[in-house]
Amino acid sequence: MNNEIEKYRKKVFKTIEKYKLVENKDRIFVAISGGKDSSAALSLIKEYIEEKNLNAKVFAYHINLGFGYSDRLEEEVEKICDSLGVELYVTNVKKEFNLNILEISKILKRPICSICGLIKRYLMNKIPRELGATKIATGHHMYDMLINYYKNLIHGNFDWNLKILPKLKSEHPKQLTKIRPLIFAYPHENKMYCEYKNIPITKISCPYSPNFCCYLSRREDYKIFQILEFSDKNFSNFNLELIRGITRFNKKIEKTIEAKKENYMECEICGEPTNQKICGFCKLKLIYQKQNMENKISNLY
Ligand code: SF4
Ligand code: ZN
Repeated sequence: MNNEIEKYRKKVFKTIEKYKLVENKDRIFVAISGGKDSSAALSLIKEYIEEKNLNAKVFAYHINLGFGYSDRLEEEVEKICDSLGVELYVTNVKKEFNLNILEISKILKRPICSICGLIKRYLMNKIPRELGATKIATGHHMYDMLINYYKNLIHGNFDWNLKILPKLKSEHPKQLTKIRPLIFAYPHENKMYCEYKNIPITKISCPYSPNFCCYLSRREDYKIFQILEFSDKNFSNFNLELIRGITRFNKKIEKTIEAKKENYMECEICGEPTNQKICGFCKLKLIYQKQNMENKISNLY
């Protein structure tokens, strides 16, 4: 193993160890998209469990969004999981939930990515939990976190920045703890690791994002991304020190924040945790079903 890989691996293992991201008896589900970040997260969690000889298991979880490239992507995700020897669970949004993301976006006049994000967040908590998950892991890396950090500052969403942590503890019995083992990793390190391990990461992109990484398709995100790249080129380790500082601060005030946390309710329709009477997912479904019904009736006349 070369030095760079060894350094990266040690850094990720240290994050897992320090923040207790993987523990005995855990059943960790990794949300996998087919890209380098989630594939690296999946592989490293598996390696960590094996190296520490933990009584824990890792699984992959993929959401087939039901448009354009989704079936091809699912096949590629299967190849990744086969190469890593990890069991894969897939949810098909169109077939299993009868939801058409493109139609919903038109009906609600909301961007496709916003509908897609809402559905993914909902399913990523519900389905793995029903399959016995104790935690859900994502491949979010340092740049994802820092882009959100700057955007939240610019738009005044200061509370959201308090959630920039390697582990977001569950706030409701039906809410999974979220873990981000790559929070201190650079995107290029994840790529280097996947290449070293020969993980067959996908080259196909979502048709609604020119660069697969969703944030690169948005102008503001792209500007911040360029600032991060500039910092890395000119001020060695600045971004790493910044993300470490942010997480140290958030960890320090975590207890105070916990005391102030609002109580989660359960959605009156599906019973999933939400801070409204009816969760966003069910509202979306209701509007879509109503519109479908109206279209069917108008076609009768
Ligand atoms: Fe969903 Fe990302 Fe594609 Fe947008 S770019 S539709 S969020 S997968
Ligand atoms: Zn609901």
